[in-house]
Amino acid sequence: TTTTLSQSKPVDRPEIKEQYEHFIGGEWVAPSSGEYFENISPIDGKPFSKAARGNKEDIDKAIEAAHKAFPSWSKTSAANRSKLLNKIADIIEENQEHLARVETIDNGKALRETRAADLPLVIDHFRYFASVIRADESSISEHDEHTVSIALHEPLGVVGQIIPWNFPLLMATWKIAPALAAGCCTVVKPAEQTPTSIMVLMELIADVLPPGVLNVVTGFGPEAGKPLATSPRLAKVSFTGETTTGRLIMQYASENLVPVTMELGGKSPNIFMKSVADADDEFFDKAVEGAVMFALNQGEICTCPSRILVHEDIYDVFMEKVIERTNAIKLGHPLAEDTMMGAQASNDQYEKVLSYLKIGKDEGAELLCGGEKADLNSGLENGYYIRPTIFKGHNKMRIFQEEIFGPVVCVTTFKSTEEALEIANDTMYGLGAGLWSRDAHELYQVPRAIQAGRVWVNCYNTYPAHAPFGGYKKSGFGRENHLMMLDHYRQTKNMLISY
Ligand code: NAD
Repeated sequence: TTTTLSQSKPVDRPEIKEQYEHFIGGEWVAPSSGEYFENISPIDGKPFSKAARGNKEDIDKAIEAAHKAFPSWSKTSAANRSKLLNKIADIIEENQEHLARVETIDNGKALRETRAADLPLVIDHFRYFASVIRADESSISEHDEHTVSIALHEPLGVVGQIIPWNFPLLMATWKIAPALAAGCCTVVKPAEQTPTSIMVLMELIADVLPPGVLNVVTGFGPEAGKPLATSPRLAKVSFTGETTTGRLIMQYASENLVPVTMELGGKSPNIFMKSVADADDEFFDKAVEGAVMFALNQGEICTCPSRILVHEDIYDVFMEKVIERTNAIKLGHPLAEDTMMGAQASNDQYEKVLSYLKIGKDEGAELLCGGEKADLNSGLENGYYIRPTIFKGHNKMRIFQEEIFGPVVCVTTFKSTEEALEIANDTMYGLGAGLWSRDAHELYQVPRAIQAGRVWVNCYNTYPAHAPFGGYKKSGFGRENHLMMLDHYRQTKNMLISY
């Protein structure tokens, strides 16, 4: 276990309020229970701020506020909605550094990642939907010389959006931007582990939108999430989170017969073909970095490339480099400039990952590096740090089949393309996958045969707003990103007019 520890001094903690209320109907509203819950920063296990403990009463208030706002918001022009989304993007851009640091404290990920990935993607996402809504007009066609057909897009109505903790601002943005662009009003329920960054964002944009268009109610899943997902007053429920929670949300929504979007878990294969070792050094190194991406965001990414499938002929030369690069990942205070990997987002998640390290060892997987918690000092003793870990084993093991959602990758070998595909698809999930090859035939044929909604070819972990994203199999259905999202928040009315 030679994981590198970050030495540089952390930058200052961001100034935020001690406590946040709900944001409902354009105002800060105290929780009806009067209760707040402590938000613990995973960096040091200390309280960071307090969030309102939402319940059904708060959720109903927010849904009511959204219904009040909907008739007028749904009739605003696309040009107007576009202008407001761009304004949100501008405000986020002006406050980017502050929000990146809040996100870092809230979630535990390294500041260099929130700066380089989370915030720029959030900003671009708002701008993307501000643009596409202008270009996506309703259509008119002639049926015959006396009849025209008008296909008119209408927003669905008031929607409920439930967010996970791994990319608190970005996952919220993926839902909020298209819903608002389409003319819906929304009630958002952030994850209880990371309720703060979105409230800091709401402080910044509180006056941009008409009251009630965007409401945020914090709280726990069963107390605040359930009344949202079960409400008969919603036109849609969009959920990102675990597959088991997704099942519950679908049951709730089925009672009300409303559509759902499910963005769920994953166990993504990252496949390294034999030609990786025949390629030039630059490509080989890029492929090695692609394998090491399992530790990005502490492995808390739904598309985390958590299974490495490597051709047996290149296993030694390839994995030697991957282990070397993994051990060079600097683990430390997430606000330190040179930290590459921070803390797991919560104590529960930390314990869960540690339990999988034990499971891996117990089921006989070979530990190639890491395999334990990282004991950091200088005030980080109670933070949730785990050394990036590589296990070697086979695909039937639990560590190969179950989503660990931590900096743990499982590696196995294959002899042929057929075998690689068999292993890649031998999972209940189908969210992401990676293929690394220099063979033109493989570059197209292998991704076609992989059962996953997103296949990165000779790259990994990029999330442009215009690229559709979503799962096959138990990773969910519906998509996020891409202009097709507009139709996930609208319905089409057809008018046939005879004159
Ligand atoms: P989670 O399912 O525990 O919680 C997600 C959200 O659901 C939280 O806001 C939580 O409060 C809420 N919730 C929990 N129980 C609920 C209930 N009974 N009713 C209504 N709401 C309820 O998931 P998580 O641990 O926050 O997130 C990690 C999971 O999210 C991983 O499985 C990951 O793969 C997945 N994820 C998927 C994507 C994707 O786009 N496919 C993206 C990010 C994360």
